[in-house]
Amino acid sequence: MNYFLTDDQKMIRDLAAQIAKEKIAPIAAELDETGEFPWEVVKTLGTSDLFRVFIPTEYDGLGGGMFEMALVVEELSKACGGIALSYAASGLGTIPIILFGTPEQKKTWLPRLASGEILAAFALTEPNAGSDAASIKTQAKPDGDSYVITGTKQWITNGGEATIYTVIALTDPTRGVRGSTALLVEKGTPGFDFGKKENKMGIRASATRELVFTDCRVPKSSILAKEGMGFLVAMKTFDQSRPGVAAQAVGIAAGALDKAVAYAQERKQFGKPISNFQGMQFMLADMATQVEAARALTYAAARTIDGGEKDVAKISSMAKVFASDTAMRVTTDAVQVFGGYGYMKEYPVEKMMRDAKITQIYEGTNQIQREVIAMNLIKESIRGKK
Ligand SMILES: Cc1cc2nc3c(=O)[nH]c(=O)nc-3n(C[C@H](O)[C@H](O)[C@H](O)COP(=O)(O)OP(=O)(O)OC[C@H]3O[C@@H](n4cnc5c(N)ncnc54)[C@H](O)[C@@H]3O)c2cc1C
Repeated sequence: MNYFLTDDQKMIRDLAAQIAKEKIAPIAAELDETGEFPWEVVKTLGTSDLFRVFIPTEYDGLGGGMFEMALVVEELSKACGGIALSYAASGLGTIPIILFGTPEQKKTWLPRLASGEILAAFALTEPNAGSDAASIKTQAKPDGDSYVITGTKQWITNGGEATIYTVIALTDPTRGVRGSTALLVEKGTPGFDFGKKENKMGIRASATRELVFTDCRVPKSSILAKEGMGFLVAMKTFDQSRPGVAAQAVGIAAGALDKAVAYAQERKQFGKPISNFQGMQFMLADMATQVEAARALTYAAARTIDGGEKDVAKISSMAKVFASDTAMRVTTDAVQVFGGYGYMKEYPVEKMMRDAKITQIYEGTNQIQREVIAMNLIKESIRGKK
């Protein structure tokens, strides 16, 4: 389908596709096995200016937005959803700085993030606060000109590898979510340590790690937005970042579809390629249709955000739900097209199926996304707008 990309957008997409083919595809299986962080690829993405695409020009970016980020994430994810996540999660960690940072914070962090010299991360989840993010326990106690952070964040992508972390913590526990605040915390700050590194089902090349804060003192100037606005910072960040997860899902699904189409023409049974059988053709046709529909919705969501629409929660959640459910279906079908070989690690599609699963879980599970969509539908209906 023609999405009428500008020449710049085509260049960004093609560059990401080239890196995916030349630098990511050859190491995807190995990093899936070892769980090693893809620093070499991150460096290449940096020198290729791909971290710049969603960062404003005044901070050494190229001035694009979520659409450009989605184009990159999709192409990288075609080759490896895990390696692509090191890029996408840095985007997630960068968004709150773009949206809520002071000019000083932006000047300090955005040029370094734009060059790919450093990565960012976003830390909300805790052992007992997942979907119910409002029940976080990490505290940032005001103390003179500082906050003193104590608590543990769990399953933080780019944990240990990123340099700058947006951490949501309670500055006034008596006020619940209204007492939460977003703080920028730099790796190396005394009292900020990294705990367990997770051994995961999929996206194994991405780092997923605990952040442990023990009397970690940060200056009050680390605040993003205002004290008490931490939950809002988190929700506004997710509104913008969810099309990125959708793009990761589209990329994984598209990668699996490509493999399935190629394999169906090579594999012969009953004396002919299995692509000759209508049962296979219908399966491939459905997979392709679902991928295209997911891509169209993902691009629409990203363009809606970049176009300046204020209320983007519904479209953003729709893209995330639809694309991630598509990725799970399409990668499962790709394994089916490969038959028994699809179940073996020597072939690429079982990894894609494992990688796809996370897109239905993180940045809000698909059950939570459906709640967001329904709540917005009801809100719109009450307001009488269509
Ligand atoms: C690999 C990985 C990377 C991650 N990266 C990050 C990161 O970088 N930063 C970060 O902050 N977090 C991160 N997370 C955390 C992720 O966002 C949470 O796992 C997710 O929000 C779900 O929380 P939970 O796992 O505690 O599930 P739970 O909230 O315990 O949910 C369990 C089940 O109950 C369902 N459920 C819960 N509440 C409801 C409800 N109200 N209605 C219907 N169903 C419901 C859920 O949909 C799910 O199916 C990551 C997680 C993983 C696994």
